[in-house]
Amino acid sequence: MKLKKQVTVCGAAIFCVAVFSLYLMLDRVQHDPTRYQNGGNFPRSQISVLQNRIEQLEQLLEENHEIISHIKDSVLELTANADGPPALLPYHTPNGSWVVPPEPRPSFFSISPQDCQFALGGQGQKTELQMLTVSEELPFDNVDGGVWKQGFDIPYSPHDWDSENLQVFVVPHSHNDPGWIKTFDKYYTEQTQHILNSMVPKLQEDPRRRFLWAEVSFFAKWWENINAQKRAAVRRLVGNGQLEIATGGWVMPDEANSHYFALIDQLIEGHQWLDKNLGVTPRSGWAVDPFGHSSTMPYLLRRSNLTSMLIQRVHYAVKKHFASTHSLEFMWRQTWDPDASTDIFCHMMPFYSYDVPHTCGPDPKICCQFDFKRLPGGRINCPWKVPPRAITETNVAERAALLLDQYRKKSKLFRSNVLLVPLGDDFRYDKPQEWDAQFFNYQRLFDFLNSQPELHVQAQFGTLSDYFDALYKKTGVEPGAQLPGFPVLSGDFFSYADREDHYWTGYYTSRPFYKSLDRVLEAHLRGAEILYSLALAHIRHSGMTSQYPLSDYTLLTDARRTLGLFQHHDAITGTAKEAVVVDYGIRLLRSLVSLKQVIINAAHYLVLGDKGTYHFDPSTPFLSMDDTRLSQDALPEQTVIRMDSLPRFVVLFNPLDQERLSVVSLLINSPRIRVLSEEGQPLAVQLSARWSSATDIVPDVYQSVKRVDEAQEHRLSTEFLIYGTRTSKDKSGAYLFLPDGEAKPYVPKEPPVLRVTEGPFFSEVVAYYQHMQQVVRLYNLPGVEGLSLDVSSLVDIRDHVNKELALRIQTDIESEGTFFTDLNGFQIQPRRYLKKLPLQANFYPMPAMAYIQDSQSRLTLHTAQALGVSSLSNGQLEVILDRRLMQDDNRGLGQGLKDNKRTCNRFRLLLERRTTANKVQDGRPTSFPSLLSHLTSMHLNTPVMALPVAREQPGGPTLRSFQPLASSLPCDIHLLNLRTLQAEDDKLPSSETALILHRKGFDCGLEAKNLGFNCTTSQGKVALGSLFQGLDVGFLQPTSLTLLYALGSPSSSMDVHLEPMEISTFRLRLG
Ligand SMILES: [Zn+2]
Repeated sequence: MKLKKQVTVCGAAIFCVAVFSLYLMLDRVQHDPTRYQNGGNFPRSQISVLQNRIEQLEQLLEENHEIISHIKDSVLELTANADGPPALLPYHTPNGSWVVPPEPRPSFFSISPQDCQFALGGQGQKTELQMLTVSEELPFDNVDGGVWKQGFDIPYSPHDWDSENLQVFVVPHSHNDPGWIKTFDKYYTEQTQHILNSMVPKLQEDPRRRFLWAEVSFFAKWWENINAQKRAAVRRLVGNGQLEIATGGWVMPDEANSHYFALIDQLIEGHQWLDKNLGVTPRSGWAVDPFGHSSTMPYLLRRSNLTSMLIQRVHYAVKKHFASTHSLEFMWRQTWDPDASTDIFCHMMPFYSYDVPHTCGPDPKICCQFDFKRLPGGRINCPWKVPPRAITETNVAERAALLLDQYRKKSKLFRSNVLLVPLGDDFRYDKPQEWDAQFFNYQRLFDFLNSQPELHVQAQFGTLSDYFDALYKKTGVEPGAQLPGFPVLSGDFFSYADREDHYWTGYYTSRPFYKSLDRVLEAHLRGAEILYSLALAHIRHSGMTSQYPLSDYTLLTDARRTLGLFQHHDAITGTAKEAVVVDYGIRLLRSLVSLKQVIINAAHYLVLGDKGTYHFDPSTPFLSMDDTRLSQDALPEQTVIRMDSLPRFVVLFNPLDQERLSVVSLLINSPRIRVLSEEGQPLAVQLSARWSSATDIVPDVYQSVKRVDEAQEHRLSTEFLIYGTRTSKDKSGAYLFLPDGEAKPYVPKEPPVLRVTEGPFFSEVVAYYQHMQQVVRLYNLPGVEGLSLDVSSLVDIRDHVNKELALRIQTDIESEGTFFTDLNGFQIQPRRYLKKLPLQANFYPMPAMAYIQDSQSRLTLHTAQALGVSSLSNGQLEVILDRRLMQDDNRGLGQGLKDNKRTCNRFRLLLERRTTANKVQDGRPTSFPSLLSHLTSMHLNTPVMALPVAREQPGGPTLRSFQPLASSLPCDIHLLNLRTLQAEDDKLPSSETALILHRKGFDCGLEAKNLGFNCTTSQGKVALGSLFQGLDVGFLQPTSLTLLYALGSPSSSMDVHLEPMEISTFRLRLG
């Protein structure tokens, strides 16, 4: 045991009336055995004070039905060697359980029955295409389709277009990855800037030319480097429709591992940039490269007022099925949507890839001949051995006929006579010659085709929106309206296979260290955004704006962009080269440090007792963060708070929407301390040793393991497993999971060392294996924290070769092949284990949670990082923790995954009793977590931040708790962000803030007993006018998700209403 002691402070409760005292649990030296016997001997006066306070509070609650405060800073004082009021001790009863002082926190939970209706049904109209059903019915037989290997022969008659011309839009595009083989900056310098530089003159040469761009991150960097004249030219090209920015996000995000907070944030960042610099609002979505598609994206794009979208990487068998049933274009609807308001028109590309050989028609050998970058003499050629030929007077008729045949065949797969033909690839159009080769040759082909009326074709360059507009026009509806005659689809497009049994399910876990760091950055960004906005509003209110570090806004902007960049489909996916991963890591860490600074600066002002004394001095920060990371790939290390004769102060920031009762761990260099609340009342603590290794083993530990298990009512066991990879030529890599069969038990060389800690507020079992440390902790706290098992796995598989480490949870739940995984932390997608598919096909992304259930119970695994998950057998949940793979998997990366880190994966395991389960409901394509599950996920993903007050404060500061909200938000309403908008000077904040609220969909049919929540529901009503304590809402404008469109006029009423599952954005002014 080291000298350092870990003090665990139980506090941060909203009504800080608890009178607890220090309890030294493991410190036998300090321990005075007589105190145990005196355990029941509490100071009566203090208990009665406490009881009175509780009664008062309960009265207050009954009157108001409101609980005060959520995002809240609490103030604690740590005092060394202090003498103080007599202690109130938790004590150990003879039967072995702990008795802790009564908790004054109100437990109050009432959900109005109306709010339970949503999950019960009625909603979610039946759609023609339900992806869950499609997957169950498809044979996935992979029959050779001839030239279109994964498809079929497409017959047509040349007269098919006699009554209506075929209208072809060829869309030149360049797919620019913001980091993959090269870093973002290297790509920019060596490739992207040249593409954009030559784009301007090449588009200006001929008004018929078009170009499509998607990644605003690159565009914004280029914009910084071009002069006013060029900027004006770009604005003209956008204005006249020659250049389209599609989607308009900061990146083209991964849709499997990303969390909806980050997805929305990067979309706002991109859209705000476009609005400000180009004055343009994106209309169509373009996602050609993400490895599978989530149904969260169509929702977010629809709510951002986009009218149509395109997707590409979908399982080849699904593509074939949709092609054969003319279902490649559909209205995409959310599974939970009751009234089609979420519908967005979606185009699914039919073939293997978005490159030129796979976009003109079914035969890549032909289409490749129309990629004029591959003309003989160039750097790349056609692997089908027939090179392109430049178009001349003499060959144009023959070449045009060849191409038209492909166009016509492709067109037969769709319901309209409008045809989309993308023309591009990764980092294309980087040289003027390439622009010329494509534009001149295609123009000659178009001119010829269009001059032959008997061909009934009209071909031209177009943007994606040109294509969609023509389609809408043909159908006779306005863009964005419901397109008649197209099927309605619900569900998602995971998991993706591009050929054979090559399932892209490895990247759900690849590089889990960074998937975890991403989530940490998200929590800090949200916390920093909210605190910055509040501090700014309050300091403006007090007229002291000049003293505040407004320049923190640039730190926020940088962090938004870093988080946005990392959502890229080669970043959070873990599919970039090692050096690029390091570059991302450095950016993530730098932003994390910046955000801590923003949080510290905002908290400094907000918790100051006497605002008049506020003085910002960047050289002497008032607060510090209590953890640091030594490098981008290191786990955080907690700072030791050093005690001497003077008290130390710690500010706790709870970024949750709700008040919380949580254990907060601090590292202190002395066990002889007292912890006082803001009011000077002693708080109860649990003192634990800090272990540097797994020594000092107690032999009778197994009993305690059992105790923890008994807290669950079901048989539940966990087991570590190892997957190997195949001996054949195709092996697992960064993208693909190609296991050599079923997993085998992980057999450590030596049996694990177990260590058990028991205490009044938490007890834990730590199992030390050679490659991991598994901590299972149970909190003895009322409310959310005490109802689930806290599980974390510290994994280090750097000495493995071609192995994947899995954690399997085996229960007696009769899940019968059905399990549930979340999409982007936003919604739940039911899954079926499909025997007809290989093992790896049954894995799905798990950004936030997965569960299995039967009519009695539901077991939910909540996660603090995205990982791959499956349920391969009845009653199981299995999650892949890390993967170490020595080879490339032939998808362009050219590397294996050999840069594994020590990674800490964190989970919460929640077992709930189902009260109203029925078969009809369980058969539906939608499902919802309980409120408790939502709150558990929030607790796991947004931990309390501890901010020790810097030591240099002479005499100690006067600090006061800060409670931003005057009344509670309903417990199904989540404040997703409070994001200060940019001023005209983009380094400064404007007076306006974006408030983003999310009303969660939840299932009331689980564990209806009083769970100790401190919030209720309100049928989606929120009174914004009086929400922020001490601040008025001066202006309130409902807007589209990314603030580009005002929805209606500024609201005179400050009461807003949200439907279940909806995310709503408001532009407002706080003052
Ligand atoms: Zn890409």
